[in-house]
Amino acid sequence: MSTMATHDLLLLAGDGIGPEIMAQTKRVIDWFNDHSAHQFTTIDDLVGGAAYDAHKSPATDEMMAKAGQVDAILFGAVGGDKWTDVPYEARPEAGLLRLRKDLELFANLRPAVCYPALAQASSLKPELVEGLDIMIVRELTGGVYFGEPKEITGQGNEKRAVDTQVYETHEIDRIARVAFGMAKKRGNKVHSSEKHNVMATGILWKEVVTQIHKEDFADVELQHILADNCAMQLVRNPKQFDVIVTDNLFGDILSDVAAMLTGSLGMLASASLGAVGTDGKMKAMYEPVHGSAPDIAGQGKANPIAMIDSFGMCLRYSFDMGKEADLLQQAITKVLENGLRTPDIMQEGMELVSTSGMGDAILAELNNLSS
Ligand code: NAD
Repeated sequence: MSTMATHDLLLLAGDGIGPEIMAQTKRVIDWFNDHSAHQFTTIDDLVGGAAYDAHKSPATDEMMAKAGQVDAILFGAVGGDKWTDVPYEARPEAGLLRLRKDLELFANLRPAVCYPALAQASSLKPELVEGLDIMIVRELTGGVYFGEPKEITGQGNEKRAVDTQVYETHEIDRIARVAFGMAKKRGNKVHSSEKHNVMATGILWKEVVTQIHKEDFADVELQHILADNCAMQLVRNPKQFDVIVTDNLFGDILSDVAAMLTGSLGMLASASLGAVGTDGKMKAMYEPVHGSAPDIAGQGKANPIAMIDSFGMCLRYSFDMGKEADLLQQAITKVLENGLRTPDIMQEGMELVSTSGMGDAILAELNNLSS
């Protein structure tokens, strides 16, 4: 009798460099099918501009039905100039927003990890970023991007624009639990970032996080930090952080700041997680932080590491395959140590490789490390 665990993955490559980086990730998935006690079944579908071209919709109901059923989704990237004139609600990015919204993916996890071999590529001094490993947990479905009213009124030279920042206790409660749970598997430290000095939502945020901490996570170190100070500390001394939990707006900004500490967009993975359903499954989508990079699409120049590393996050967070995720991370680290570089991270004296060349090298290292 087989004891092999099986998992269904929906692969949404999307537009631009999406299909190129997904192809390399597919090779890594196949490698784990051959070398682990887990079996992944993959289903491909269209999203974004590619889906619009085929179906006049960036996220069809049929695709959404599959997205709701699988164990996890891997998403490439969407968008490009080709679709600038399509109706607003059918633009490629609307496909991504529908996935996040319909699946209620409320927790966005963005690791900022600086591989030692790339420390020189950061805008900060290498000693400040070498070995950096921060996890930003951003609330993704609430806050000022969604609050009502959201409108522009008035006419002519004197108009009035309103965005509304709203948070309810349950929204803060669930994101705080994700952050504390994450910290327990990492450095056991959480910084909760808001602006309670000037915002009512900040006061509630701090109150709820403090309460959850006291009740259920007292063994995790908790510090409250104002969002502006957090931004400053991220560039002054980033290694003081382990997990940062914050709202949608501050998270948008702080995660980009943290991201650029590490060098290139082509290196950054992310996960968006939802609640665990009645079927015991947690909704989850994994995607690189970067977009569809139309300027380099189809030229074999795209760095596939952010996409491959997103699959690594999938192994860790959807399937509890920490050992396999570590192995994949080690393989990537080794390839970079060996001096292989796609054009976006190229440095003098290193060896330039193509998208598939980077895929070849990661597979070769996986073979080395597991032999
Ligand atoms: P982008 O992230 O696509 O590209 C920014 C720069 O980084 C470009 O010079 C690009 O060549 C480079 N780059 C990005 N990823 C790379 C990789 N893996 N390897 C090597 N270089 C890489 O952002 P943009 O140019 O502002 O946007 C292009 C399109 O992507 C737009 O249509 C935008 O709306 C869309 N977009 C989509 C997502 C998403 O799907 N999640 C995110 C951001 C932007």
